[in-house]
Amino acid sequence: MTKVELMTQAVAQMREHLTMPEWSVSEKIVLAAHILHSHGHGSGLAGQITARADHSSHFLTQRIGQGLDEIRLSDLLTVDEELRVLKGSGMPNPANRFHAWIYREHPEVTCIIHTHALHVSAWSMLGHPLEIAHMDTCVLFDDISFLPTWPGVPIGDGEGELISKALAGKRALLLAHHGLLTACCSVEEACIVALQIERAAQLQLLASPVGECQKITPELGKEAHDWLLCESRVQATFYYYARKALHEFPSLLM
Ligand SMILES: [Zn+2]
Repeated sequence: MTKVELMTQAVAQMREHLTMPEWSVSEKIVLAAHILHSHGHGSGLAGQITARADHSSHFLTQRIGQGLDEIRLSDLLTVDEELRVLKGSGMPNPANRFHAWIYREHPEVTCIIHTHALHVSAWSMLGHPLEIAHMDTCVLFDDISFLPTWPGVPIGDGEGELISKALAGKRALLLAHHGLLTACCSVEEACIVALQIERAAQLQLLASPVGECQKITPELGKEAHDWLLCESRVQATFYYYARKALHEFPSLLM
C-alpha cells in the first residue's frame, strides 16, 4: 500500500477505535479552561473561551472575574452578539465583542479560544510570526495568521473587525503584543490548536538563540497538518488532557 492509502486506512481505524465521552459543549468548555490553565495559558483574568449556543448568533462564555482554573458549569453564561446575558448570572468579558465579530463573519467557526499564554506573550513582543518547523506544531502549518499591529484593548468594534479580518480563513492567529486566538469547528480542536501555539512559541524561543529555524518541506507540512487534525485524533488528544484534569479535580463537571 502507498503511504496515502496507509494514512487513509489509519484514519478510518482511529475513527472506530478512538472514542471520547459524549460531553456537552458546556462541559467541554470547562475541561478546556482547566487544560489550558495547566499548560501555561493562565494570566490573571485575561482570556476567554466561547462556543456557539443552539441559536447561531448566541454563544456560551465564562463570566468575567475568574481565572481559567476557576471556571465551573454554573459560571457559564449564554450571551447574544451584543453581549447581553440571556442565561446565567454575571457579566461576560467585554473583550468578547471580537468573538462576536468572528462568529458573524466566519459561520464555520463554533469555538474561539483567546489566551495570553506565557511563551506566546513573550514571542508576541518581538514582532515576528511563528515559524512552524516541528512535526507536533504542524497543526498550525499554513494555518496561523499574524496581526503585526496592536490595536489596544480589544473592547470596541474596530478591534473586532480588525481581528476577524486578520484571521483570513485560518484556524489560528498570533496577536502582536497580546496573545493567541484559535477559531475552530469544535471545542476540542480549538483547545488542541491553542496548546500547540504555545508549544510552537516555546520551541521557537528555545531554538532561536542557538540558530536559525530551518523550514520544512511544504508538502510534508501540509500532510502532517491534515494528519494531526483528523477529528478522532484531535478528540483522543483532548480526552487524554481531560482525563488528567478530571484526575486532578474529580468534581470539575459537577
Ligand atoms: Zn487578550
